[in-house]
This record gives sequence, C-alpha cells and structure tokens, in this order.
Amino acid sequence: MPFASLGLSPALVSAVARVGYEAPTPVQSAAIPAVLRGGDVWVQAETGSGKTAAFALPLLMMLAAQEERAPRPVRVLVIAPTRELAAQIESAFATYGRDLPRRMKTCVVVGGVSENPQMMSLRGGADVVVATPGRLLDLVAKNAVNLSEVLTLVLDEADRLLSLGFGEELERVLSLLPKKRQTLLFSATFPPAVKALAAALLHEPTRVHIAPEELAVPLIAQRALLVDKGKRTLLLRHLLDANAWSTVLVFVGSRHSANHVAEKLSRAGIAVASLHGELSQGTRTQALADIQSGRIQVLVATDVAARGLDIPGLPAVVNYDLPRSPTDYLHRIGRTGRAGESGVAVSFVTAEDDAHFALIERRHRLSLDREELPGFERTEVAAPVAEPHGGVKGKRKSKKDKLREAAAAAAARRGSGGS
Ligand code: AMP
Repeated sequence: MPFASLGLSPALVSAVARVGYEAPTPVQSAAIPAVLRGGDVWVQAETGSGKTAAFALPLLMMLAAQEERAPRPVRVLVIAPTRELAAQIESAFATYGRDLPRRMKTCVVVGGVSENPQMMSLRGGADVVVATPGRLLDLVAKNAVNLSEVLTLVLDEADRLLSLGFGEELERVLSLLPKKRQTLLFSATFPPAVKALAAALLHEPTRVHIAPEELAVPLIAQRALLVDKGKRTLLLRHLLDANAWSTVLVFVGSRHSANHVAEKLSRAGIAVASLHGELSQGTRTQALADIQSGRIQVLVATDVAARGLDIPGLPAVVNYDLPRSPTDYLHRIGRTGRAGESGVAVSFVTAEDDAHFALIERRHRLSLDREELPGFERTEVAAPVAEPHGGVKGKRKSKKDKLREAAAAAAARRGSGGS
C-alpha cells in the first residue's frame, strides 16, 4: 500500500519519498488513517516500527488545516520519557513538514539544559511542543507555555514514562489540558499501570497492535558469543579489528561500566565516548553528534540513555552486558538495521548469563548458535547458587534419593552379613 492511499496530503507524501521511505510500515498503515479520523488511538508497537511517523504525519496534516494565529496556540503536545527521544521527535516533525505550505513551529521542552533558550523559543507560541513532563510543568508555572488549546496529546513510550517515575508529573500535565481532545498512546508493552492509564485517558480508542515480528527492521543478524567475563573488552577490541564497522553502539548495564569500558577502549586508541544519564546534556548531545558524524567509532551507552536513539546507518550493536529485560533486548538491537538497512547485533554471554540469555531467546522465539571465537573460548563455569542452609542447589538430595540410598545401604549390609 503506498503512502498516498493513507489519506495524507501530497506535501507529506513527497516529504517521506524524499527521506527514502518506499512504503508505510505496518504501524503506519494502521495508525495513520485512525489518527486522521480524529479519534483516540492506542498503539502497541516497538521502537523501530516507524511509530514516530505514524503520529507525526497525520498530525502535521491536521495542523496544516488549522487557521493561522499569532501567537501560535500549542495544538499538539507530545510527551516523551527522554531528552534524546524528544529531540528526535522534533526533528521528525521538521523533516516530514518541510514541504507544507506553512512552516510548523516545533519546540522541545526538556530538563537537564538551561531554561532560557526554551522560554525564548516558546515566545510567539508553537504548533507542536515535544516535552519531558518535569520541565514542561516548570515552564507552565512560569507562564512560558499555555496548554489550554491542545487538540492532540501524544504519549510516546508510555511504559517507559511510567517506569521512569513520571506518573505523578504526567497526571499534573493531564490536568492542564482541555478535556475534549484527541489522545494517542504509544507503548511497547502494556503492564497493568499502562493499561490503567489507557483506560482512564482514551475514549473508544482504535487499537493497533503490531507484533514484534512485524518490526520495520527485520534485517538484523543476531549472534551470541560465549566469553569469560574478564575477556569482554579484549573480545570487543577484536571484533572492532575484525569487522569493518564504521560505528558501533555498545550497551552496558550501568553508568560506571559505561565510563569504565569507554576508558579502556580509549586507552587502546579507539575513538569512543560514553552516554549515560549522569552526563550533562551538552556532553550527551556532543557524543550523539560525534557518533552520527563518524568522528567517534564507538558509543558505550546504558539503556535509558540510548532509548529511542536513531543513529542512521548504524551497522552494529554489541550487548557487552545483557539487557535486564527481553523487551530491552529488542529495543537495543532495533538501533541497528533501521530503515531497511542490514545490521548485526552481537551479545556477549558469560557463564552467569546462560539462563538469562536463554530466557530472552524463549521470549522472542529465537534460537541462536552459541559461538566461541579462537582465543576467546569461555573457560568459566557458573558458580552454583548457594541455598540459605548452606547446601548447593541441584546437589541437595531429594527424599526419594535418601530412601533409595537407605535401601541400598540396608541391602549392602544384608549382603555382607550373608557371606
Ligand atoms: P521509530 O520506530 O519511529 O523510531 O522509527 C524507526 C526508524 O524507521 C527510523 O529510522 C525511521 O526513519 C525509519 N522509518 C520510519 N518509517 C519508515 C518507512 N515507512 N520506511 C522505512 N523506514 C522508515
């Protein structure tokens, strides 16, 4: 189905053609007509499914039909969990809206950077505000932004918004919006808290469910490399040498590991930066610009910092530490192989990780070969899990074993007694 048949205007169809999208992704085919009809929409889709365009395109069309006013009333409010995601959503609106007869103004309102430039940019109003909740509330309190004329609210990555603890601030933002409005809720997962939010917010929504296998990014080769815990940096360096990867996103489990791995790579002469929540916004923006321009080869990141990142043409993702949840595994590998390009996702599996990686595979119906590279063969074995009473799990005798042993001992005694 071509984009033109979804009801989008020629200016929007030509803009997506210019960025090289040949056909809508499944989430776009399903959500765009529903958003254009003006009702509430509830979309379950993963990052990488093309969900940003699924709301940005129809909302731009709606905005183009509104009368022009000065100052511009905020008509679309997008709430996102991270600054990086907010910045990407803004740039999507700018890219897709390029050919519209009227230039739409989009402002990003996020914490971690100085308020003043955001207040300046909000002067004269904005058609679209993309925000994280806390800073938005700050600027509302300072009368820098008015949300009383919002026509459409988009909650992007609602599961992450709630798991990051934005629930209360979100409630306060919701209380500032007109009751009569369109609400679009996007989430990769629907745990009970997100379901409750959807039930409270959405009125007779159109439901769109995109199964993970329908991702816009099917071309990812996934590999599982067995390795000892202490050899992972060496293995990573080996992979960087052996593969012609222009850029690599390396995932680690903590801020500390991000700094530590980045330092070790840097000492080995590799152009690298780390990305995690403790860094200033300036440093994070610089790291992102550097990996996008190819000035650095490796970005070592934590999940939260990398959520929603779009690094065009990223050929490889490495799970130095495995993600905590199977869902995060999809989010991580979805950073590569985007927009129809191929990519590779390599997971390091230490002895401690065997069971967890098997769980990730089961959840995604995967069955990857376990590989060992020469010189990096895994030698460690998982430490047995100690039980509270000092026994060792798997080694404790069952009742049946004890009975069997007692019977064998008795039989042996009878046997020896008879000779
Ligand atoms: P998202 O799920 O919104 O983060 O989008 C994932 C990636 O898919 C982004 O890099 C988009 O530029 C790309 N994308 C979105 N829609 C399409 C499409 N119809 N065809 C190809 N790539 C797309």
